[in-house]
Amino acid sequence: MIENNFLLSDETVRLRGEMKEFVNSVDPELLRKMDRDEIDYPFEFVREAGKRGLLGLRFPEEYGGRGLSWLAESVAVEEVGVLGMGLGCAYSMVSIVGEAIHLFGQEWQREEFLKPMIKGRKISAEGLTEPRGGSDFFGTTTRAEKKGNRWILNGVKRFIAGGKVADFYLIYARTDPNAPGHRAMTAFLVERDMGVEIEDLHNLMGFRGMGTARIAFNNLEVPDEYRIGEVNNARAVFNRMMIPERLTSAAGAVGLARAAIEVAIKYSAKRKAFGRKIREFQGVSFKVAESIAKLDSARALVYTAARAADDFDSGRSRMDPRRLVSEAKMIATDFGWEIVNNAMQILGGIGYTQVYPVERMLRDMRLAPIWTGSNEIMKLLIQHEAYKMLDLPSEDRDFEKDAMDWYKEFEKVYE
Ligand SMILES: Cc1cc2nc3c(=O)[nH]c(=O)nc-3n(C[C@H](O)[C@H](O)[C@H](O)COP(=O)(O)OP(=O)(O)OC[C@H]3O[C@@H](n4cnc5c(N)ncnc54)[C@H](O)[C@@H]3O)c2cc1C
Repeated sequence: MIENNFLLSDETVRLRGEMKEFVNSVDPELLRKMDRDEIDYPFEFVREAGKRGLLGLRFPEEYGGRGLSWLAESVAVEEVGVLGMGLGCAYSMVSIVGEAIHLFGQEWQREEFLKPMIKGRKISAEGLTEPRGGSDFFGTTTRAEKKGNRWILNGVKRFIAGGKVADFYLIYARTDPNAPGHRAMTAFLVERDMGVEIEDLHNLMGFRGMGTARIAFNNLEVPDEYRIGEVNNARAVFNRMMIPERLTSAAGAVGLARAAIEVAIKYSAKRKAFGRKIREFQGVSFKVAESIAKLDSARALVYTAARAADDFDSGRSRMDPRRLVSEAKMIATDFGWEIVNNAMQILGGIGYTQVYPVERMLRDMRLAPIWTGSNEIMKLLIQHEAYKMLDLPSEDRDFEKDAMDWYKEFEKVYE
């Protein structure tokens, strides 16, 4: 209802329609079962998306994708996002793990893992976070030691979505005990059957039915051909994977916020208090106005970040999209949380029950500012990139000279 198609090509608008058709076909009972934690993973949903050719849209046709843009993928993820964070994640994981395999993997890995993922026949998961912490990624303590042509993995990963059921995992491990983290880690594909131990399933506030688990490796052997990218250069894989990781988080949050505020708009147009529809109270309708404006601005930033990634990949721009991607993740998830919260407030007491799905959406949405790099980490990245501008040549006017006392250079004291 309240999406917009400005800036999109006809092809992308048609894709949105195709996504809506798929999303509308999803049985509400699946969402209820997931929220009751009655299923381990939405296998059927992923298979159906694969059957319709809707997974891994950005990847080349030879691997089963459609060779579409980051922008098109963001539009698709927004549509899936209305179903909640769990299904949004199951859908997006193909793009995230797939990115590492597509760009850094070998041809046999693309055949063996990427293609079946895109068909919805193999489930993947990514293992970055450890009990020790998620924000300090380069402090990873999971170790991999080379013995002949194999790597021996030891360590624990926490909060792994799909951890219980995945056919394979993309795992980051420290392969040089002495070098600084950003030059000491390597990425591996690890099949569950190689001996991944599922230690615990987390009891989660939301985001249920996704088999989110703590997994462990105890002297697990991984052949060297399962390595992704160069030894000790996982940083390159990680930096690239964070584009789909954070863009899909952002686009999914836009979808979920949109769903929540749509419920609230409809409710406020029917519900009465003091003999009037509650939408007639400014206290209510202004919440709607603020929510819609935030939704539109979050989406605009997601589209801009996606376009920046497209331009970077096509060589049209040399600007690394990471700042805009981090901004999109932070703004879409912070605004997403505010919008769902507004939706609940508009529904009043009934919003706090399960008569409407807004309470599930709120529990789901609370995860968004925390995961895929918390919003504090996004701020670290954004300011870092902003200060880098100081080193760049500028074509801008010298704004300081516009001051009234522009000539009093001696008053500019910094220490
Ligand atoms: C349901 C769920 C699913 C998840 N799925 C996955 C998954 O599939 N794969 C995976 O690898 N991980 C997954 N995660 C992990 C998630 O990405 C991490 O929880 C997140 O990155 C934060 O790490 P942490 O929980 O260890 O918090 P910590 O890193 O311990 O941080 C705690 C707090 O300190 C703040 N903080 C830390 N460092 C700084 C700093 N330098 N400056 C300012 N503030 C700072 C953080 O923002 C946070 O508020 C999932 C988490 C959850 C809850």
